[in-house]
Amino acid sequence: MHAFGLIDCNNFYASCERVFQPKLKNSPVVVLSNNDGCIIARSEEAKSLGIPMGAPYYKYKDCIEKNHVNIFSSNYELYGDMSERVMDSIRLMVEKNNIEVYSIDEAFIKLSGDNISEYAKKISSNIMQWTGIPTSIGISNTKTLSKIANHVAKKIAEENVFDMRDEKIKEKVMKKLPVNKIWGISTGWSEKLRNLDIHTALELRDADSNFIRKKLGVVVERIVLELRGISCLDIEKYKNKKSIIVSKSFGTLITDINLLEQALSNHVARACEKLRIQNSKAKSISIFIQTNKFRKDLPQYKASKHHILELPSSDTGKLIKISKNLLNIIFKNNYLYSKCGVTLQDISSNNYEQKHMFEKNDPIIDTLMKRVDSLNSYLGKNSVFHASQGTTKEWKMKRKNLSPCYTTNWKSLPLVR
Ligand SMILES: [Mg+2]
Repeated sequence: MHAFGLIDCNNFYASCERVFQPKLKNSPVVVLSNNDGCIIARSEEAKSLGIPMGAPYYKYKDCIEKNHVNIFSSNYELYGDMSERVMDSIRLMVEKNNIEVYSIDEAFIKLSGDNISEYAKKISSNIMQWTGIPTSIGISNTKTLSKIANHVAKKIAEENVFDMRDEKIKEKVMKKLPVNKIWGISTGWSEKLRNLDIHTALELRDADSNFIRKKLGVVVERIVLELRGISCLDIEKYKNKKSIIVSKSFGTLITDINLLEQALSNHVARACEKLRIQNSKAKSISIFIQTNKFRKDLPQYKASKHHILELPSSDTGKLIKISKNLLNIIFKNNYLYSKCGVTLQDISSNNYEQKHMFEKNDPIIDTLMKRVDSLNSYLGKNSVFHASQGTTKEWKMKRKNLSPCYTTNWKSLPLVR
């Protein structure tokens, strides 16, 4: 009989920073969001100082300084690479059809055999040894239950693994778990459930599934079944995104359309790269620009524009050109812009490419883009780029406390003395 496991990296961003600065072990660490706005990751020590998740940095500045908390700007290049290392480690221990990379720091696995619990402990300790990243693993009969088991693993489990397959243990845990903590239950749904007098995971498990379907739909009914140990959600191997969004706030407010064009071109280039990684093309593109809505003292403007392509494409050059045209339509002078972004939609796999009667994608473009991607992965991000992406990056966000890109930049290799 098989079991599902959820592997989750503990305090992932904070842990990544610690791998390369071992002296930070046992001392508090926080990681800040884009433009150093909010706290988005905390080590255990920072959590116990009472610093909440998502809190604005300036509100806790005093507490952070007083307690000598180590602050880092988010270094997504480092975290992305460390995530790949963790996932590669898992791939060495679990058959690839039984792994679903769920997020940057989480993966579902399917295990079978007699010593599932022991094997999970080995997985966790190997990941630690190979990458330096601590993980917790929850095990149970369904994905939803393994997610719950993971909550427990983080809090109490020795050796970072919590096996929640025993019925009595399941009941004990679910009795204490509020419905809003269940994977897949939205805030709206948990409110509706509370109105139906269903407050805990155990109460939801024991609810009449037909009644739940009538009241809240088939997705919640599926969750009820999953809580009962009936597996409805399997490992999803290829989870291609249906839309790709790249947007960022600028480090400073911008009025110049040329700078906006540069920022937008960079976002389009990144979005196209993501598109090609999942071996697909997009048929529609939309862009937006906006001023800072929190600056009530400044005039406000926000606009977006959409374009549908004749043929699905992942050609960076072509999509940059379209996005610039769209920008020219919506851009207005005399506003201070704080953010822009691009969304690619109607995404289809290259394996099922739709044919068009009069137009054809140029195969040379696909080859060219592949070359660009492999050069950039070999030589480092943006070694080869489109001229319209610009070279100065004046719009770039503020990252005052950025750590070096230890694993993706030769110049940032850690030194051994
Ligand atoms: Mg995590």
